[in-house]
Amino acid sequence: MERVKVLIIGSGPAGFTAAIYAARAALNPVLYEGIEPGGQLTTTTEIENFPGYPNGVQGGEMMNDMREQAKRLGADIRTGIVTKIDLSSRPFHLVVDGEKEVEAEAVIVATGASAKYLGLPSEKKFRGMGVSACATCDGFFYRKQDVAVVGGGDTACEEATYLASLCRQVYLVVRKPYLRASKAMQERVFNTPNIKVLFEHNTAEVLGDEEGVTGVRLRKGDGSEYELAISGFFLAIGHHPNTELFDRQLELDEQGYIVVEPGTSKTSVEGVFAAGDVRDPHYRQAIVAAGSGCIAALDAERFLASQK
Ligand code: NDP
Repeated sequence: MERVKVLIIGSGPAGFTAAIYAARAALNPVLYEGIEPGGQLTTTTEIENFPGYPNGVQGGEMMNDMREQAKRLGADIRTGIVTKIDLSSRPFHLVVDGEKEVEAEAVIVATGASAKYLGLPSEKKFRGMGVSACATCDGFFYRKQDVAVVGGGDTACEEATYLASLCRQVYLVVRKPYLRASKAMQERVFNTPNIKVLFEHNTAEVLGDEEGVTGVRLRKGDGSEYELAISGFFLAIGHHPNTELFDRQLELDEQGYIVVEPGTSKTSVEGVFAAGDVRDPHYRQAIVAAGSGCIAALDAERFLASQK
């Protein structure tokens, strides 16, 4: 059976940064890219807030740059999905694509989180063309335009107020007759003149043409439908961390995110480290994920040195 020192699961900014640091520390890391090579950033368009790209960069291109950098430094980047993992004893035991078995002395989990979508075909069609699950990432492209945000929680309210500072009009589409968000966030929303809250509204269809989103068809509580002209459609109905594989093996919080020792990447299992959105329900930014990938590689390096 193949044995590796550091095995990294996931290929977003956290995974690739961990691979870069682990490779430079001569740990010969092996990285499995997973279901969505490049991670969530491959579903966005332009990224303008990652330092080092003065003219912005396409999400897919940036992930390719990180991948090439990790490869050049010696990381072994592999296509494959870790389908089974046993963290009950060291070396840890993993199965890739249901057949290949690997043993690892240390594991870095960087499997990320996935934004929840409504599941409409039209929403999928315009993803990256006006449909986005990240206002901080994409809001800037809708300056002085009209947009809609779906959701009634803290994220939706936060995204709506952020967008209100850039956009002309923000519609907050809420399926219930009330907001679930904290009182403070609700007040911010109600006190922002260019946010209009549409209670008891659901999205029937995202409308658009070859250029992208042009509107949305909404369904009211009484079943009647009407259309609104918008150019950006933002989902803020929650994320789910990709931690199914680690259920009952690593300590997870009530939302399923991996719990780490504060200030480190150490999980409840010695030798297993977590980086990026899979352990971060709050910030969800590429630069934060990259930073935590660095921390995980340094923690793994120290752990392996302590085992000698
Ligand atoms: P939440 O689960 O709190 O809220 C999700 C919202 O989306 C709810 O209003 C829910 O409606 C709505 N929703 C879910 N599915 C659908 C659907 N299919 N169609 C329409 N609406 C839907 O997620 P958040 O991301 O807002 O927050 C996650 C956690 O992070 C929370 O604990 C939150 O408090 C925290 N957070 C804290 C922040 C802060 O303190 N600054 C900022 C952001 C998040 P319904 O109410 O009907 O279920």
